[in-house]
Amino acid sequence: MSRLFHYKVINNAFGDPCVFMRLLREKKALLFDVGDIRKIPFNEILKVSHIFVTHTHIDHFIGFDQVIRAVLRRQEPLRIYGPENIIECVHGKLRGYTWNLVADYPLQIEAYAIKENKIKRAKFVASKSFKIERLSTLSIKDNLILQESLFKVKAVELSHGIPVIAYSIEEDFHININKVELEVSGFPVGPWLSELKKLIKKNYEYEPTKMLKPKNKNLNIMVQTPKGKFKVEELFSFLKITKGEKISYVMDVAPTDENINKIIEFVKDSDILFCEAYFLSKDRDRAFERNHLTAEITGKIAKEAGIKELVILHISPKYIENPQEIYKEVELSKSGDLL
Ligand SMILES: [Zn+2]
Ligand SMILES: [Zn+2]
Repeated sequence: MSRLFHYKVINNAFGDPCVFMRLLREKKALLFDVGDIRKIPFNEILKVSHIFVTHTHIDHFIGFDQVIRAVLRRQEPLRIYGPENIIECVHGKLRGYTWNLVADYPLQIEAYAIKENKIKRAKFVASKSFKIERLSTLSIKDNLILQESLFKVKAVELSHGIPVIAYSIEEDFHININKVELEVSGFPVGPWLSELKKLIKKNYEYEPTKMLKPKNKNLNIMVQTPKGKFKVEELFSFLKITKGEKISYVMDVAPTDENINKIIEFVKDSDILFCEAYFLSKDRDRAFERNHLTAEITGKIAKEAGIKELVILHISPKYIENPQEIYKEVELSKSGDLL
């Protein structure tokens, strides 16, 4: 199966947490947290279209300057999402430099501050020396903060002593080509199949029972194939439709029941969960003090939410000599063997 999301974990679990995500055949890339990103090549940073920041502690935000540096002459805007103070934090970063030579640069930075069911917005345009311009506030429904043609992103607010945002990204549905059926019917493989996929993604939604349901009832789309024009439904036998991939990202969360329950609900059935496992449960007092999850809690979340693959991204430097203890506790808790 060709996956839409291709991710790279940038640092080890003792470095700043950061996931760089490319989208298959798309020129854009996404970043989840933007701490130390020195290991991402310049030409890859250049593709970053959206940044999803959990919170602006320095280990999650210091790399923002490097992103601006890379995209400064770019046409496409840079969009950054984060907790309620993200607009002020982006503003602060931009105010830290002098911008008298960028008047003819097209770059526009848009900041989206997520708070309960609202998103406050602001933009900063290079041609206006990145002065802040406030935009109207948007309402959020069902945690949905971004709907693109190939994927959607949801967000939920949790607590880390300060507000912190967890994210999940979902492919609406996945289309594979049934090559056998194609060959039997005498249709050659070619670029028309990508066009077909695009048309379907744009005009249909996924329903587990009916598989594909048209977004508009009176839909009548004709598709140009190497064997002439066909109604889109006539080509469905060439497709295998499956549920799209879901990937979630949760960092720096206080180990309270309220947070844990919210996370389990939010990350439910993710194919991949990137999560912290900051302390061992024997240091749970410290975990409460510092507002971080323990390995035991992270394992429990993965188990109860039915996570297929759990990736631990953030561990306290306290365990640098012995990280296996963290991984062991996560595994035991995930398999339900921890009392
Ligand atoms: Zn952190
Ligand atoms: Zn933090």
